[in-house]
Amino acid sequence: MTVLYDRVALIGLGLIASSMAHAMKRGGLANTITGYARSSQTRDIAREIDLCEVHETAVDAVHDADLIVLCVPIGAMDSVMAEIGPHLKPGAVVSDVGSVKGAVVAAVTPHVPEGVHFIPAHPLAGTEHSGPRAGFAELFDNRWCILVPDVDSDQAEVDRLARLWRGMGSNVDEMDADHHDLVLSVTSHTPHLIAYTMVGVADDLSRVTDSEVIKYSAAGFRDFTRIAASDPTMWRDVFLTNKDATLEILGRFTEELFALQRAIRKGDGEHLHAYFTRTRAIRRGIIEAGQDTDAPNFGRGPASTK
Ligand code: NAP
Repeated sequence: MTVLYDRVALIGLGLIASSMAHAMKRGGLANTITGYARSSQTRDIAREIDLCEVHETAVDAVHDADLIVLCVPIGAMDSVMAEIGPHLKPGAVVSDVGSVKGAVVAAVTPHVPEGVHFIPAHPLAGTEHSGPRAGFAELFDNRWCILVPDVDSDQAEVDRLARLWRGMGSNVDEMDADHHDLVLSVTSHTPHLIAYTMVGVADDLSRVTDSEVIKYSAAGFRDFTRIAASDPTMWRDVFLTNKDATLEILGRFTEELFALQRAIRKGDGEHLHAYFTRTRAIRRGIIEAGQDTDAPNFGRGPASTK
């Protein structure tokens, strides 16, 4: 175990920040972890579970911090950084965990003082749960964390942040912000939008009762509902800030959907079979990369309601 930072400040104390606090403690990666959340209720919960040294203001939480991680919704990054910027010590590193990178870089960079490093990051790990009680040390294990340094970033600090994420269990990659936002719109953002839509469709369909939807959900719908239960604030911000990439992928999605719709109307089984054979190979690739289980029913026992 190597201490990588003396003082780490977490701004926002939700799922991601609390998981980071647990993972840093597990790895002995920081001497002191401080934190701040907007509501006194969240701060009280964080104190109750002894998550970190909780402060009443963000400015107090970042005092003398070596690493400050912004763990707030994307739409709050600008105002949070404007508030803490003048109080950061020279040489400190600011990072974030926002799910969109271009918009966060644009919001945060103007408030980063001279002599302070800004290295954006995005851990590709999450659950549909929110708040400080939702966090757990294993959240990042064997998941990817993407760092988004720019050409002027201090390489020693980029390496140190990469070591922190590895210490918390992640694999680490680097990308530029635009590419990150395009990749994530394919792998995360658009799938979430589709899940929200499918659950909305089921909700609107009066010929199928709610109790039927719930009773027969294990046939596939249940997995959409898990994704569609994700935090509304976070996901609103994702779509407001990753607009271009999402619209591009949605355009492609719609074209493919129309092609499948036509194949179904024409009874073109060959087209459908070839398409589903191609997509099956992607699932195999994900399992081979250790990013999911090939256990039947995603590893859920038959009686499990997880
Ligand atoms: P969360 O559980 O809802 O926690 C958000 C935290 O931010 C709460 O502590 C909240 O405080 C605080 N907050 C909100 N607005 C604030 C403000 N204006 N000033 C100070 N604190 C504020 O959210 P999360 O899932 O940890 O997500 C945090 C970030 O991680 C987001 O940027 C998201 O894009 C990113 N991310 C999420 C996931 C995921 O799957 N959840 C995965 C990767 C990255 P209160 O409780 O007091 O309101």
